[in-house]
Amino acid sequence: MSDTPLSLLNRVFGYPAFRGEQAAIVDTVAAGGDALVLMPTGGGKSLCFQIPALLREGCAVVVSPLIALMQDQVAALKELGIAAEFLNSSLDGATAAQVEREFVSGQLKLLYVAPERLLTPRFQSLLEQARVALFAIDEAHCVSQWGHDFRPEYLGLSALHERFPEVPRIALTATADTATRAEILTRLDLGAARVFVASFDRPNIRYRISEKSDPRRQLLDFLGEHKCEAGIVYCSTRKKVEETADALKQAGFTALPYHGGMDNDTRRRHQEKFLREDGVIMVATLAFGMGIDKPDVRFVAHMDLPRSVEGYYQETGRAGRDGEPAEAWMAWGLQDVVTQRRFIDEGEAEDAHKRVGHAKLDALVGLAEAASCRRVALLSYFGEASQPCGNCDVCINPPILWDGTEAAQKLLSAVYRTGQRFGAGHVIDVLLGKTTEKIDRFGHGQLSVFGIGAGQTDKVWRAVLRQLVVRGLLEVDHSAFGALKLTPAARPVLKGEETVMLRAIEARPARSRKTRLAVDHSDEDPLFLALRAWRRETANQKGVPAYVILHDATLREIAARRPATRAELGEIAGLGTKKLEAYGEAVLAVVKEG
Ligand code: ADP
Ligand code: ZN
Repeated sequence: MSDTPLSLLNRVFGYPAFRGEQAAIVDTVAAGGDALVLMPTGGGKSLCFQIPALLREGCAVVVSPLIALMQDQVAALKELGIAAEFLNSSLDGATAAQVEREFVSGQLKLLYVAPERLLTPRFQSLLEQARVALFAIDEAHCVSQWGHDFRPEYLGLSALHERFPEVPRIALTATADTATRAEILTRLDLGAARVFVASFDRPNIRYRISEKSDPRRQLLDFLGEHKCEAGIVYCSTRKKVEETADALKQAGFTALPYHGGMDNDTRRRHQEKFLREDGVIMVATLAFGMGIDKPDVRFVAHMDLPRSVEGYYQETGRAGRDGEPAEAWMAWGLQDVVTQRRFIDEGEAEDAHKRVGHAKLDALVGLAEAASCRRVALLSYFGEASQPCGNCDVCINPPILWDGTEAAQKLLSAVYRTGQRFGAGHVIDVLLGKTTEKIDRFGHGQLSVFGIGAGQTDKVWRAVLRQLVVRGLLEVDHSAFGALKLTPAARPVLKGEETVMLRAIEARPARSRKTRLAVDHSDEDPLFLALRAWRRETANQKGVPAYVILHDATLREIAARRPATRAELGEIAGLGTKKLEAYGEAVLAVVKEG
């Protein structure tokens, strides 16, 4: 066999070139070396072990914690004409035995296994009998005891190296931080491995973060730009998931709820529908998403603030794995910050842990408040330097900043003069000079601050207040019914030693925002839609997700280039030999009709 990595990439996978570090990783592993690969979601980790598996003699054993995913991954490989199977608890005994026989007799190129099965004596003996090309350890961060995805069985995987020292290993993860990286290297005994760190940038994802005003309306406006597209809407509570899903259904979207309080069966059904059908919106709590590798998720929307930048990045990373334009959208408000702070403070954790919780939240709020490029802020959080991206809301539509020093002084004074005992509503009433029962009762109409803010609207004052709280000049005392209190950071502002620049509520007229940000598919190419309809039918017949047949990017390129012959079709990325053979004629027929 004279296959090279590149010829396999072209012929089997139908892609013209490797991305980033893929070529170097494939070379390392194909030559028998160990590798640790850190690449963001959608970066293209799978090829890093699939191509070495084809180049080396024997069968690659892929360890994956996500049973639900194995089936689709194996289906996708089979579509490419690669002998792949999986072994997990979903198989009946006879099928599992058949797969084991094929593995031992050398008929397979890739075998996906759950970690708990891999470590059983039975499977260990199969490993002794079979010829193993390499071990791929997917989601390698599951070995980290400090992460949320810890899997005790992963700790046993270092034994692989002891028993099969000559078999190369490749560990892969999308978790970026250095602590996890170090933990993977030691726990998996990968000290001699080459470490490949890809850029964590996801240039095709456009980040947009807005303040909540009318969240439901804001969400519907956003979704209006994504008609007929698949996406995830994250909400912080089960109740909100249900309500939002209902509202979206009423507005005519195909939306399904998903949260931990639903029975397993319904959850599985909803997940299947999301994976297999086009244009389904999943409204979910954070329980949903781990291991969802649907490539054509076009948007991820957050209706509430997540807990950390890591969390936000992981969740938004589920959009646009196929490299096509996608959007990460979030609406957040002061209440989110207040609720989360209370949650941290009232938790059982030790003080050190609470401090970490607050610091993580601060970093995320900093991102949400950022007046410069979101992507630069995100990447710098992960230790990566970059330039303004031109593909986030701030770059496209820079916020207008105003000198809010005087406004801040007025508001801080109002809090102080009313005795630091009242919540936002009352303080703003005092600023506006309203006559309310409460103002009468406390005699606040007599204060020097009464009515000094009448020149601004209630909405502006709320925006000022929010920004002062998130910047730590004011704090909300949960133990006193949400009373506002000054912090030491308020002093220099009150004394006129510090200026406060604030974001204006409305960045620019909505019109320019809309025309520049719209990703509207209502004028979608009819040929693309026809190809999508054909794909859906084909996928249904085969019982596989649509993207296993062909990706959106491939359909789009076909629609744009309108190939007339098999040879022309073969030049399009995403169509390897096998897929050309299987679908070439049908696709050409759709093009001809369209
Ligand atoms: P990850 O596991 O890192 O999240 P995948 O391996 O699922 O990412 O790859 C993400 C997407 O990118 C897949 O749709 C895959 O087919 C595509 N892809 C990977 N490598 C290439 C490449 N060299 N050229 C074109 N597409 C690629
Ligand atoms: Zn930017």
